[in-house]
Amino acid sequence: MARLSAITPSGHAHVGNYLGAVRRWAREGSPGDLYLVSDLHAMTTPYHPQKLRARAREMLAVLVASGISPDQVFVQSDLVRELGALTWLLECTCAYGEAARMTQFKEKTQGDGKAAVRVGLFTYPVLMAADILLQGASEVPVGDDQAQHVELARALARRFNGTYGEVFTVPTAVTPPVAARIRDLVDPNAKMAKSAGDAPGVVFVLDEPDLVRRKVKRAITDSLDRLEYRPDDQPGLANLLEIQAACTGKAPREVAAAYSSYGTLKEAVAEALIEELRPVRARTLELLADPVELDQIRASGAVMARERGAHRLESALRLAGVG
Ligand code: ATP
Ligand code: MG
Repeated sequence: MARLSAITPSGHAHVGNYLGAVRRWAREGSPGDLYLVSDLHAMTTPYHPQKLRARAREMLAVLVASGISPDQVFVQSDLVRELGALTWLLECTCAYGEAARMTQFKEKTQGDGKAAVRVGLFTYPVLMAADILLQGASEVPVGDDQAQHVELARALARRFNGTYGEVFTVPTAVTPPVAARIRDLVDPNAKMAKSAGDAPGVVFVLDEPDLVRRKVKRAITDSLDRLEYRPDDQPGLANLLEIQAACTGKAPREVAAAYSSYGTLKEAVAEALIEELRPVRARTLELLADPVELDQIRASGAVMARERGAHRLESALRLAGVG
């Protein structure tokens, strides 16, 4: 029972990624699980090549620095040939109508003319299916926005197996245990996201302590001056309470009861975040400063993932009558 999870280097890793996903992967994962830095997925919208390369490297370093075993991580593009080949087989298994039903694509392309949208944005769910099926993952933990893509991977695995012969494990989408959905500190109605760029409401894993303090200090709360956990009415405050809860292992309500002013709560949140991030930040910077160690982790991850998928790709090509 192998699980596969991915993080796209579309920006720098932030505390939402860390508290909501990466820290859990490090703490709760099993040895057969795999984690990939999905840099190929970051190419579906305009991007900067050098930045993508640097961010993929940084993301790999953050995963390892967070405590995920180096034996379980790899960078997606290190398997670009294998994944390119499998994506083609799966595109020739996928019906146009099936791909066109993906609501994420519809949402992302609403309004603006589809003519200028990259074909890759349309077909990337098939690449995602290749990521999953190549590794033989049986479970894919995803949020609601990705569940439909795992359904597609499931349908393609079944169809390929039924048409050409049994090759692929049919994956299941699993809902990760409810994790804090960290919101933007300045716009508490939006979730904290990488693609927001250098937004003042996003705390990045590599932010210096003083910058973390400044960002938390400027977090939007409200003028009610009621220190209670009420996510609907006080979303900014609730977000701070949830962050503090995630850092201290307490419940948000307990946290609310422990402080008497927004100011003291903010100071505590900033310090807790700084402490939580300190070892991850230190180890990430160490890895980024030592290209040899990080290159070696990356290279052995690529070998591991390639070897793990090789027999499936070979069988699939043979059964499909090519290669
Ligand atoms: P993008 O803006 O490019 O979509 P993102 O920050 O949403 O970036 P993803 O690569 O989509 O990050 O997601 C990586 C992992 O981080 C996923 O498991 C996702 O559920 C989790 N995650 C992302 N944002 C948050 C957040 N604000 N709070 C909690 N978990 C989050
Ligand atoms: Mg996202």
